[in-house]
Amino acid sequence: MSSSGHGVWKPVAQNVEFDALESNCNAVLAVAETVRTTLGPKGLDKLLIDQAMNRHVTNDGVTILLSLKTIHPVARMIVEIAERQEEMVGDGTTTAVVMAAEMIKEGKKFVKEMGVHPSKIVEGIDSGVKFACKLLENEAKKIGINDVELEQIVKTSLASKLDGQKLSPLVISAIRAVGENAVYDGKYDFMKAISVVRKANMQDSYVNGIVLERKRMDNEMPVEVKNAKIIICKLDLKPIKEAWITDSSKYDDITSMETDKIRKSKEIVNALLSTGANVILIASPEVDQVIENLLISNKILAVRISEDEIEQLVRYTGAKPVRMMDDLKQSTIIGSADRIFESEDQGLIYIENGSGKNVTTIIVSGATKETSLERWRATKDGVNAAEAALNNGVVAGGGAAELHLAKKVKDLRLKGLESVGLDVVISALESIMRQILTNAGFNGLEKVMEVKASPEGFGIDVDSGEPINMWEKGILDPLLVKTTALEAAGEISKSVLRIDKNLAAEELNAQAVYESKR
Ligand code: ADP
Ligand code: MG
Repeated sequence: MSSSGHGVWKPVAQNVEFDALESNCNAVLAVAETVRTTLGPKGLDKLLIDQAMNRHVTNDGVTILLSLKTIHPVARMIVEIAERQEEMVGDGTTTAVVMAAEMIKEGKKFVKEMGVHPSKIVEGIDSGVKFACKLLENEAKKIGINDVELEQIVKTSLASKLDGQKLSPLVISAIRAVGENAVYDGKYDFMKAISVVRKANMQDSYVNGIVLERKRMDNEMPVEVKNAKIIICKLDLKPIKEAWITDSSKYDDITSMETDKIRKSKEIVNALLSTGANVILIASPEVDQVIENLLISNKILAVRISEDEIEQLVRYTGAKPVRMMDDLKQSTIIGSADRIFESEDQGLIYIENGSGKNVTTIIVSGATKETSLERWRATKDGVNAAEAALNNGVVAGGGAAELHLAKKVKDLRLKGLESVGLDVVISALESIMRQILTNAGFNGLEKVMEVKASPEGFGIDVDSGEPINMWEKGILDPLLVKTTALEAAGEISKSVLRIDKNLAAEELNAQAVYESKR
């Protein structure tokens, strides 16, 4: 990796690193090494420890990579791949990293050992990745929300996670409960319809409705409101700011401000109540004590919420955020739900049977903060995998879909040296199954050879080591995980292979920095 050995990257000899390919590849591979052993159902966890000795156990590729401290600038691209995968699909980060590392390792071999010019390899990688993605797309099976494949996708995604078995039924129920309510512009978007809430010391559960990790504003307010008429309030609820009067000797001003404040507060509360609302969800930055008291005396259930919570509440209750007093004159701003209540010992507010689009919440528990965080992340992976599967279809899992493509990609037969680029892609296609099996304690390479002779869709059972049909066993992955990972791996390997020297620049010009951050 770095020449200093401390992760602080320093180019050697007159600020130029002549053998950049070697050093960049080593750096990338070293970083990939930190996550590759987590891949698959038998993948192991990593313990992250920070300087303050905080511990965190995780199996999640992107979490591990983001926690690495000093990192070689080129190896940082690996982290970016994982982040991109997380953003675009939300699952499959380790898969993307393993494929990228394999392409870089193989590509380097051709450049170094056989003297192939990087540009030839890069062209081959490009065609190989495009072709492989196309083949995968043709092979993918479309699935519907009530198909058994949806369950299999979620189970496969959660197979390697802490308590994956326990969490998958919750994910599946939550998805089926929202169903078509999560379709936006013709695609499932579960971010809009399913929340995952983390709460230690509670049973794992799934709730039809919204659960807010909040308490009501004051204990005097009602704990429960049935037939709730809801306002989501963004109004300024601090009509008079005390800070306006800086000179405390002006008694007259202060008293007139006080009366003004009471008058204005009453005006606001009256306007709110005249809509018929009995629940007010408050996203305003400040709330005047007078307003709060008026809400209490009017037996209103008021709850503070954050900006981020507004969107889902709007969707679920049909309320529209109130920004100005005039908005209160429109009857359409009110939302409704059958019941809103606070569970005082859980410290959660439940909103049930909203009149808008259906929303569900999965509550994941955990004995410690760390386990609940890891279980929360796993649950999200499961939801994301399901979304990708419903939107784009599924392929055989366990690395089987990729592995059986190898032969076909070989058939692409590019002319001349570009064909070595295809070999690079083929290695990456085979690397997933090999890594999953290596992690399961087998000789990965040997097992992969064995499966190559089996029909399409076949892989190896991670327990027995015997060949199995992945479709029959219900080990399935979303197509999108594979194509996004392949494309990202192709991109990064192309950039790494094309760099022949690393230069220590005094200062990059602003345009270059801007471009590289885009
Ligand atoms: P990623 O970060 O890439 O999602 P995971 O650790 O979640 O990594 O592993 C996902 C891989 O594990 C997928 O290729 C999936 O098909 C595979 N997998 C899950 N369960 C099994 C199983 N029972 N047998 C073989 N492979 C499995
Ligand atoms: Mg996964």
